[in-house]
Amino acid sequence: MTLLHDTSRIVPAPADRLVCRNCGAQFPLGPQHACHDCFGPLEVGYDRDALASVTRAQIESGPASIWRYAGLLPAGQDPATRVTLDPGMTPLVRADRLAAELGMRALWVKDDSANPTHSFKDRVVSVALSAARALGFARVACASTGNLANSVAAHAARAGLPSLVLVPADLEPSKIVTTAVYGGALVAVDGSYDEVNRLCSELLESDGFEDTAFVNINVRPYYAEGSKTLGYEVAEQLGWRLPAQVVVPMASGSLLTKVDKAFRELASIGLVEDTPYAVFGAQSAGCNPISAAFAAGTDVVRPVRPTGIAKSLNIGNPADGPYALDVVRRSSGAIADVTDEEIRDGIALLARTTGIFAETAGGVTVAVLRKLLAAGALDPAAETVILNTGEGLKTVDAVSGRAVPTHTIAPSLRAAEQAGLC
Ligand SMILES: *Cc1c(COP(=O)(O)O)cnc(C)c1O
Ligand SMILES: [Zn+2]
Repeated sequence: MTLLHDTSRIVPAPADRLVCRNCGAQFPLGPQHACHDCFGPLEVGYDRDALASVTRAQIESGPASIWRYAGLLPAGQDPATRVTLDPGMTPLVRADRLAAELGMRALWVKDDSANPTHSFKDRVVSVALSAARALGFARVACASTGNLANSVAAHAARAGLPSLVLVPADLEPSKIVTTAVYGGALVAVDGSYDEVNRLCSELLESDGFEDTAFVNINVRPYYAEGSKTLGYEVAEQLGWRLPAQVVVPMASGSLLTKVDKAFRELASIGLVEDTPYAVFGAQSAGCNPISAAFAAGTDVVRPVRPTGIAKSLNIGNPADGPYALDVVRRSSGAIADVTDEEIRDGIALLARTTGIFAETAGGVTVAVLRKLLAAGALDPAAETVILNTGEGLKTVDAVSGRAVPTHTIAPSLRAAEQAGLC
């Protein structure tokens, strides 16, 4: 007799409710994303005892993927039910040469370009689609600024699910290719991401979409929880402790809030010591609604029309903006935004000092790190982790004009000599 799967690997499911982030109303777990009372966004809530039963040893003996934290996630406790490419456990790279250039004492790059579709989005999609399958959805979909499109299409292909991906038509050509290659429906929309997102919300209300899980809309509470695994991994890879400072790129602001949630959870269940940490947010000047609100000292995030090369972060009306501001202010962090030229410099600096080629979002993060250090908002002596959330090969055009051969010569020793190579 053969077992269909190894049931000994199933851990208890700790999620037990949805909680309104606005008014605190509670609802049963289900395919719901807005509060029935105030229309506020919902977040997954957990049974504290179930979370507290998770041990370091359990996690360390788990798989080398986000699923080692299944006991802290809202889906995928049974490996047989997962819809996943098994992302996670990406390298935490000690960046001494970058630190030296910036005058810092201890700096790490958490390199999420190492995920299966080369961005951190594989984390959120694995959790969202595993939840979607458990909730009975038959088709998966998303509105995307690029990386989510890649990840949803690839996950759907692996699981044999139909997919529907909608993106702004002016996306980087390479992100169109790296989505379309997986098959599935890919719709280029003549409009901004915010318009694509609104269209998806309207589709959801139409006939024929009852069985469709839009990962960042109707199953968003589950989707967002996947980002916690980035925070868990940083803590585990540092030897089960929290960094003093963390710098996070922001589009909707969700990732930033979930890194904070992960750190708080680990401290509250005793897996790390409850040491203080500051959370810093990074945006581009071309799309800076959260940064502008931070600078203005308000918690009202005014939508903008995005421009600039950091397209993966180009959400002009960020759903989690107010919550991200709250995390940053509560933790005594800061937020800044940087120009396209500073982003290109950031990509080059990271590549030159660490061997990591980041996409434009990574350039934003490095450039904001530099800017906040210069402004005295970030402590150069404190242990700092920055998140590289995507792969440079997906946005080569951003630097192709300046990343060129240093010499071009004829195939002769004489030409090599003339070029000063010998
Ligand atoms: C989506 C994305 C982010 C940020 O996402 P949030 O919406 O803020 O959670 C950061 N970096 C990259 C490369 C992304 O694709
Ligand atoms: Zn509410």
